[in-house]
Amino acid sequence: MKKNLYFLLLFMLVNFAALAQTKPDYSKITLVIHGGAGTITRENMTPEKEKAYKEKLNEALETGYAVLKKGGTSLDAVEATIKVMEDSPLFNAGKGAVFTNEGKNEMDAAIMDGKTLKAGSIASVTTIKNPITAARAVMDKSEHVMMIGDGAEKFAKMNGVEIVDPSYFYTETRFNQLQKLKGEEKTKLDHDGGTSSTENIFVEGKKFGTVGAVALDAYGNLAAATSTGGMTNKRYGRVGDAPIIGAGTYADNNSCAVSATGHGEYFIRAVVAHDIASLMKYKGYSVKKAADEVVLKKLVDFGGEGGVIALDKNGNFAMPFNSAGMYRGFIKNDKAEVSIYKD
Ligand code: ASP
Repeated sequence: MKKNLYFLLLFMLVNFAALAQTKPDYSKITLVIHGGAGTITRENMTPEKEKAYKEKLNEALETGYAVLKKGGTSLDAVEATIKVMEDSPLFNAGKGAVFTNEGKNEMDAAIMDGKTLKAGSIASVTTIKNPITAARAVMDKSEHVMMIGDGAEKFAKMNGVEIVDPSYFYTETRFNQLQKLKGEEKTKLDHDGGTSSTENIFVEGKKFGTVGAVALDAYGNLAAATSTGGMTNKRYGRVGDAPIIGAGTYADNNSCAVSATGHGEYFIRAVVAHDIASLMKYKGYSVKKAADEVVLKKLVDFGGEGGVIALDKNGNFAMPFNSAGMYRGFIKNDKAEVSIYKD
């Protein structure tokens, strides 16, 4: 009899513990976003442009936060957030994607689940309206992590992801930027400026920027997502860091969720996102210390321009960048804040 009572008590205790663990905790839900880093300065911004960027960043934050507030997962939140920015011509992703040397728009995207370490990514796609949704489909509906080009497009179509004519991605400003860069044998960060007249077009036309989102949901799970058109005048088949798991995108509940923006070649070689997670995991760094170490020291020594957003499982986050500016923002405790410049 006494033994039965003991088992009953134990059973109740185990169930209570399990329940307490799964009980959603809305106090920590957080969403952090970026819309690209580069030579973004007050001098090169008009009040109208600034307003447009801030409005769109806020809309993206509100959209993803609404998902989290309703008890949605961090994965759903980052996907919904990225879609808002992909549908806007302001950013270098989806609708506003930059042009390749051949005059095409080739996009890359990735998403990662911090709970399961499952990931999905696509590269060099030209007909997928929302590349992030295709990356999600690769993660959820295939046994693969990465699909590229025609195969990725075929797979996306088969899974009901919206397909558009490549002309959907045409924007005049971006096309003009390509014409000016062609012949220089150079690639360029979409939002980069400079001092020569050729480079100034990027200051002038800073209407774009790779987009990224990291989120913490009420169940304590992290997710990261990044979407990009890459770099203007990139050559055939060039793939940047955004869809490379561990370089431009990474998420692990045991460390952090990261999305990067910047000169992809450097971010791939520095394995930026995974490096930040590793510093937290193996060296016990805080998310801020880890992100600062990689972006403000390692990348600077390396010559890699750009920034990241990084978020840990307690809702602590960092948004360091080593360029003049980075479109960025966060929302937590029902309060959103967006910023563009360094100060
Ligand atoms: N990281 C992107 C790439 O290299 C570019 C960007 O962040 O704007 O493809």
